Amino acid sequence: HPDSLSHIERSRKFEPLSMRGMPPIVWEKADDIYVFDKYGNRWLDWSSGVLVTNCGHGAPEVRQAMIDQINSGLIHNYVFPSEERPELAEAIANVSPDPLKKVFLLSSGSEATECAIKLSRANGIKVGGREKIGIIGFDRGYHGRTLASQQAGGMAGQKTWIVNLDPAIINVPFPDGYWENDSSFDGFLKAIEKSGMKPSQIAGVIMESYQGVGPDFAPVEYIQKLRAWCTENDVVLTFDEVQSGFGRTGKFWAFEYYGVVPDLICCGKGISSSMPLSAVIGSAKIMDQFPPGSMTSTHSGNPVCCAAALASLKKIVDEDLTVNAARLGPILEEGCRAVQRKYPDLIGNVTAAGYVAGIQTIKRGTKQPDHDLAHRVIELCYQKGLLLFAPVGAWGQTVKICPPLTMGKEALEEGIAVMHEAFDQAVA
Ligand code: PMP
Repeated sequence: HPDSLSHIERSRKFEPLSMRGMPPIVWEKADDIYVFDKYGNRWLDWSSGVLVTNCGHGAPEVRQAMIDQINSGLIHNYVFPSEERPELAEAIANVSPDPLKKVFLLSSGSEATECAIKLSRANGIKVGGREKIGIIGFDRGYHGRTLASQQAGGMAGQKTWIVNLDPAIINVPFPDGYWENDSSFDGFLKAIEKSGMKPSQIAGVIMESYQGVGPDFAPVEYIQKLRAWCTENDVVLTFDEVQSGFGRTGKFWAFEYYGVVPDLICCGKGISSSMPLSAVIGSAKIMDQFPPGSMTSTHSGNPVCCAAALASLKKIVDEDLTVNAARLGPILEEGCRAVQRKYPDLIGNVTAAGYVAGIQTIKRGTKQPDHDLAHRVIELCYQKGLLLFAPVGAWGQTVKICPPLTMGKEALEEGIAVMHEAFDQAVA
């Protein structure tokens, strides 16, 4: 809407360039599966912000819990004991497998993964000496924007500013079976050998249980071998569930697809469906390595964020939102596959699980990513009232779809029809 231009201009003037790139809607309000501007426009939301609003935008239960907490007057308490922080820690422990029953609350996903890397190294040094500090991440992985988390991530193009890369943080191929042909666990072992590090020098492996850029799972057999290898070599295995946790993939945790349990879970985003909150979840052995006062953060477990998270988790569980994503996910997947069948030489790969799907565009008949096509499709969807965030992927080739888990069949199908129209127009 033309009247929104002044707000966009102001953003351009006072916010860094890096904050641009999304469809130019000035959000005014949001309600469950819809986002509105103040000029009477409404969009069906296929972004969930950025995979945050798992229980819908502005869920009444979440808002009320926050209001009650605010009205109590307690809106900050640092590490001083309070009721809601341990209550949330217990609630998260209850949805986590044994022996992962200690929960450290932080504010962002990046802080959680940074903390997991630190815990892995501390454990490595303890069990294997000063050389056991290697951290392994995966190509095209994403763990956040703090120093170690970004180094462990595998977005090569985003690491150009890291001049003296920590030599003990390396990336190995992600076995997605599309961009990477070798999906065998031997590929992992070979990459470590090539790095010059011995398994005895590795402290941790960090991996998204469902890699966000595709999005994509690794083969089950690969992960089972990885789990065994980590155990044999005293390596802390972290699954980054910042995107995939809290029901997104049709299981509460995406790692449930593999039938293994990691040593650490990092989560964030959908943990509260709203407020900045994240968590590292692990066993007492790994989590209790630092003495009182030495693993904290000013806003760790902020009471309002905890209240929001407790209400969001309750809604996800009580309303079976994970089950909703699992039940309707196949409709979303089929909607994406139908586009691929129509344009097989323009769509390289389609992946989906629960309420997250990705369509990876390619230049006609090649295996070259096509950012422009993905961008055009998203732009057309936006013009037609369907909101997606800007293309993701290592080359910006992915149209990624992640509705709130509350979205019903009718709205989902409406979105699919709009997406089909957008593809038809974008390729015409
Ligand atoms: N890990 C994954 C898998 C993520 O998707 C993200 C955020 N996109 C992060 C970590 C970082 O989280 P945050 O942006 O809250 O720091």
